[in-house]
Amino acid sequence: MRYLILSDIHANLTALDAALAAAKGHWDKVICLGDVVGYGPDPNEVVDRVREIGAITIRGNHDKAGSGLANADDFNPVARAVALWTRDQLRPENREWLEQLPTGPLNENGFVMVHGAFRDEDEYVFAPAQALDSLLDAPAQITFFGHTHLQGGFTLRDDQVGVLHFKPAAGQHFSTLTVEDGTTYLLNPGSIGQPRDGDTRAAFVIADLQQKSIEFWRVPYDIEAVQKRMGAGGLPEPLIQRLAFGR
Ligand code: ZN
Repeated sequence: MRYLILSDIHANLTALDAALAAAKGHWDKVICLGDVVGYGPDPNEVVDRVREIGAITIRGNHDKAGSGLANADDFNPVARAVALWTRDQLRPENREWLEQLPTGPLNENGFVMVHGAFRDEDEYVFAPAQALDSLLDAPAQITFFGHTHLQGGFTLRDDQVGVLHFKPAAGQHFSTLTVEDGTTYLLNPGSIGQPRDGDTRAAFVIADLQQKSIEFWRVPYDIEAVQKRMGAGGLPEPLIQRLAFGR
């Protein structure tokens, strides 16, 4: 079974469709680690697409705020403005779909999915010390997480935490990680719609756990087209600009 693993799509249809086009024929089942909406200009189109491809999806903090399940009081002003804009845009059936998304952790055929961390779906795991808690808590060898928008992750082997970074060179579509017995993995596919690791390309993973192969992909997309739609929708300028920097 080959899994396409998406996270933090953030209402960016152009990036999602570029990723789906590149991944076409390489996967059997798709999962999504949350933040389907928020920040981007296409909340309905992205929810429609995620439903259409049958993605097994857990909720993220922006899905809670965008659907109205949570108020956006703990968001910064820019994120809050877009959460309220998203709520206005969403068709009722898409808002309901977001509202009913399950909370992680969710077990899927030998691995676990969380949006942020095991003990708190809204917790950011940036550093090895934070990753250690999740690695020690992990009920499976491999956990996929999102929320930070940074592709890569952490390993635990012989009580040592390791850090994984992947950066396929320009023109290369992916780097491959080979899963090793005796190592526990906490892996982030990166963000489709708003990468923050300095690489503007949409990020995702294709995992074939029988083959012990996990590919970390980067795919370019038409950023300017998305920025134009954001401008037309009146979305905040800092969000429009950051797509061009991948920060
Ligand atoms: Zn996010």
